[in-house]
Amino acid sequence: MAKLTVEDLPLEGKKVLMRVDFNVPIKDGVVGDDNRIVAALPTIKYVIDHGGRAILFSHLGRIKKEEDKPGLSLRPVAERLSNLLNKPVTFVPVTEGKQLEDAIDNMKNGDVLLVQNTRYEDVKDGEYVKRESGNDPELGKYWASLGDVFVNDAFGTAHRKHASNVGIATNMPGKAAAGYLMEKEIKFLGDAVDNPERPFVAILGGAKVSDKIGVIDNLLDKADKIIIGGGMAYTFYAAKGIKVGNSLVEKDKIDVAKQILDKAGDKLVLPIDNVVADKFNNDADTKVVEGDIDDGWMALDVGPKSVEEFKNVLKDAKTVVWNGPMGVFEMPNFAKGTLEIGKFLGTLTDATTIVGGGDSTAAVKELGVADKLTHISTGGGASLTYLEGNELPGIAAISDK
Ligand code: AMP
Repeated sequence: MAKLTVEDLPLEGKKVLMRVDFNVPIKDGVVGDDNRIVAALPTIKYVIDHGGRAILFSHLGRIKKEEDKPGLSLRPVAERLSNLLNKPVTFVPVTEGKQLEDAIDNMKNGDVLLVQNTRYEDVKDGEYVKRESGNDPELGKYWASLGDVFVNDAFGTAHRKHASNVGIATNMPGKAAAGYLMEKEIKFLGDAVDNPERPFVAILGGAKVSDKIGVIDNLLDKADKIIIGGGMAYTFYAAKGIKVGNSLVEKDKIDVAKQILDKAGDKLVLPIDNVVADKFNNDADTKVVEGDIDDGWMALDVGPKSVEEFKNVLKDAKTVVWNGPMGVFEMPNFAKGTLEIGKFLGTLTDATTIVGGGDSTAAVKELGVADKLTHISTGGGASLTYLEGNELPGIAAISDK
């Protein structure tokens, strides 16, 4: 990789500032799914095993007013992290000032300290000032002054320019490195998009075309086939003059969809048939129809012929990137298309298979095939930005080798 990684940095006795992604669900002061904390462990362990003093920064949720703060403290995360590392983790309930500086001065080699939610800086004296989210230059400079080197392992926020990622990194030239998780994301997503083993097939789904136009545009030049499922497929139907009934359609995107179809030729693979419902409800009356969808019916999942066609396109692929469900996956009666695709990806053992986005990730986990895939991206928004071919500021700010 052209960027510095944690293994390139001096760590022994160093104050190692680390940006991690601990944006985890917390209910009644208890951490729910701790996947993101677990994902950061290899880099944290590497740092402390090599005599570094790990000073961890993360955001949690969104803070827009003073009252948001108590419910979004990182304290419960410190407890969970301590259990996972099997060693004490010092939690500092503030994001700046003497209490934080003293706590850092008192650290010994191998110690771990977690700073309060970086977004506490977004509200000062009751005002929404966005110091963290707006990358306030003074804040990045101050945080950078607290350490000797910087490791960014928060891929999930790499598409955003925050003081705790871009701000710190730009104030530590030559000393800002990627952690293992970040390195892995860059390697898999980067190779898939820029240097894929072919055939390269992308599967895009989810509600809206508007969210994925940039991705489709970029991948049209790079992928061999793009399979389109989910709600976004029906804007393409409308663009082709196929009747959509009450299906989800973004009317103002029909023209863009037409342009994409013109450019794509036979690269774009749309559903042949769909599971249509008479209302947006799991208990709706349903039927499978090919092509035109009558008024009063809405397509909520791709149909069995579509699934067969998609599998046919996927079976010889050497690189597959999947983002977004094939239907309204939250309702069991419309989850089949998504689950079938997830299951099939699990059988493609000769291919590099990469999944990003919350729903597709949930699908492969539910199916128990997650460990048969090459890579599950930890960042939905960040992986989409990558697939759009756009630079991620959090990665750009990491020092070059
Ligand atoms: P996204 O956040 O863009 O990946 O979209 C995910 C959402 O798209 C999920 O909540 C799905 O329920 C929804 N979705 C997928 N297919 C359809 C469809 N055919 N009609 C309406 N919503 C859909």
